[in-house]
This record gives sequence, structure tokens and C-alpha cells, in this order.
Amino acid sequence: MQRKIGFIGTGLMGAGMARNLIRKGHTVRIYNRTRAKAEEVAKLGGQVASTPAEAAEGADAIVTMVADPTALLEVVAGADGILKTIAAGAVLIDSSTVSPPTTLRVLEMLKAKGADMIDAPVFGSKNEAEKGELGFIVGADPAVLARVQDVLDCMGRTIPVGGNGKGASAKLVVNLIVASTLEAFNEGLVLATKAGIDPDTMVRVLMSSRARAGIMDMKAAPVLARDFTPFFPLQLMAKDMRLVAEAAGALGVELPFATAINRVFSACLEQGLAEQDFSAMIKLLEKQAGVEVKSSATAS
Ligand code: NAP
Repeated sequence: MQRKIGFIGTGLMGAGMARNLIRKGHTVRIYNRTRAKAEEVAKLGGQVASTPAEAAEGADAIVTMVADPTALLEVVAGADGILKTIAAGAVLIDSSTVSPPTTLRVLEMLKAKGADMIDAPVFGSKNEAEKGELGFIVGADPAVLARVQDVLDCMGRTIPVGGNGKGASAKLVVNLIVASTLEAFNEGLVLATKAGIDPDTMVRVLMSSRARAGIMDMKAAPVLARDFTPFFPLQLMAKDMRLVAEAAGALGVELPFATAINRVFSACLEQGLAEQDFSAMIKLLEKQAGVEVKSSATAS
């Protein structure tokens, strides 16, 4: 079935996601706050919208992929937001990583318009978004999910985790573990380098041991090559860790790792690392230790 889809937020992730919807033959109307990014995606066949309201008009499904809760509330309920035009019966698929209360607030506003929503944050990064191989962690009423399953299938696979808000919660759990694991990897590599162990050799040991983790598979090579090109900008992971702390506070759960990792990210932001990939958090440790973790194959 060919769909009319509004797509809002064509940053690092949204661009590839929107392109997959266009490639599958859907009619896609694209809005991005910085218009040039929407125009770039529309070269493949979509139309550019001037406002979120224009992107949502006449659409049966709308995808949002924006930075944070503030951005989501802006594109939904701002002066030219989705709420102005969304049709009764339309479904919003929000793939941004936001707090569970934000998701539930947006759901309530949409319901008041006769529309519906699923929270569908993702795992995978820019390359998986481009290839249509993301994982959607979905919080939804199963009947609502069924109405947009074909849209999600164009962009990746789906793992339902419960009702509205549960997708947002589960995504924060994933990122807490990813960020903590990468921090542990970085700390280990800085310690090893300070102790005089060749970083390439240390990584070979780790990859052969039980310490190996998916995030290391992704980040070890670029860290050793000193390549901090953003796949997941540090400021967004910092935002996610703040949301983890908020969620833990609301549920009365004590998370010592999350507290520590929030301090690390605050310090990284103070050091001006916001726009780099979140693996650049190793620079903070290196500065304090007076070493640089670098492959011997990397030109200085
Ligand atoms: P990004 O490249 O920084 O894109 C952020 C998008 O949000 C851009 O389209 C940006 O518009 C828009 N935006 C920001 N503030 C806005 C506002 N106030 N009003 C309207 N639009 C606003 O980030 P990304 O990596 O694509 O991430 C998007 C979401 O996916 C985030 O929630 C992130 O946590 C999550 N995520 C990212 C990854 C990853 O590997 N990158 C993986 C999983 C989940 P402009 O272009 O005008 O700035």
C-alpha cells in the first residue's frame, strides 16, 4: 500500500530513515528545521514542507526523529506544529529518544485530535538508518502498532515492549548500558596505555575475552584511529543520561553508574566535546592521565 507520510527531522538518523520510505515508493513530505537538510533528502523524490503542520497535513502516518523532548514538543505543539493539521485516525511514530512522560503528554494531545501515537525509539546508528536496518523499540497499543507496521518495516525491525511509554523507557535502559560500557572501555584503554601496553594489543585481548561488547565492536577501531566523526553526537548521549537520571528519580531507583556517567558527560560538555561522537569522552580521561590512546598504525 502506498502511504502518505509526513517525516519530521532529517538529521544524522532521520535522513536515512526518510530515504528508505521514499525508496519503498511512499509519498513523503519532509520537514526539517534547517531546510537544506530536508532538501537534500527530497532529491530522492520527496517533497519539502515549510512547517511540521504542512508535513503532517493529509498524512496517514507521521514520523518524528528529532533531538530531544523540547524539539518533539516544538514540532508537535509549537505554533506550526503537527497538532494544527493532523487528521483523525492518523498515527504518529515518534522515533526520537525522549522521556516517558514527554511521550505520554504527546499521546494525550494527539488523542484529543482523534489521532494516535506509538513511541518507537531506535537502536543502530547512521549506517543502519541508511540501510533500513534499525531496531525499533516500540511502546504501543498493539492495534495501533498494526496500523503502521508496514511503515516501520521499511526502516528496520520491530521489538514491541509494552504499552505507550515503555518503548521510551526501554531505549533509556539500552543507552545507559551502552554509555557505561563505552566509559569502561575508555577507562581500561587509558589505564593500559599508561601502564605501557600497546593499545592495539589491549584491544585484541579485549575482543578475545568475555569483556567484548557490541559497542566496542563499533567504537574500538575509530577510537584507536582518533576518528571522532559524529555518528551519535556526544550532546545527545548526554541528554539521554539526563533522561535516565530523571526516570530513575521518578521511579525511586538508585543507579550509582548513571550518577557517575552523568558527571562524566557534564565534564565533557564543559570541555567543548558536544558535537563530536560520544566516544570522544575518552579525551577527558586522556587529558587527566597525560596519554593518548592511539593505534601505532595511525599517523600522528
Ligand atoms: P541530529 O543529527 O542532531 O538531528 C537532530 C534533529 O532534531 C535535526 O533534524 C534537528 O534540526 C532537529 N531539532 C533539534 N532541535 C529542534 C527544535 N527545537 N525544533 C525542531 N527541530 C529540532 O541527531 P540524530 O543523531 O539524527 O538523532 C535524532 C534522535 O535519534 C535523537 O533523539 C537521538 O538521541 C536519537 N538516536 C540517535 C542515534 C545515533 O546514532 N545518531 C541512535 C539512536 C537514537 P536541525 O537540522 O535544524 O538542527
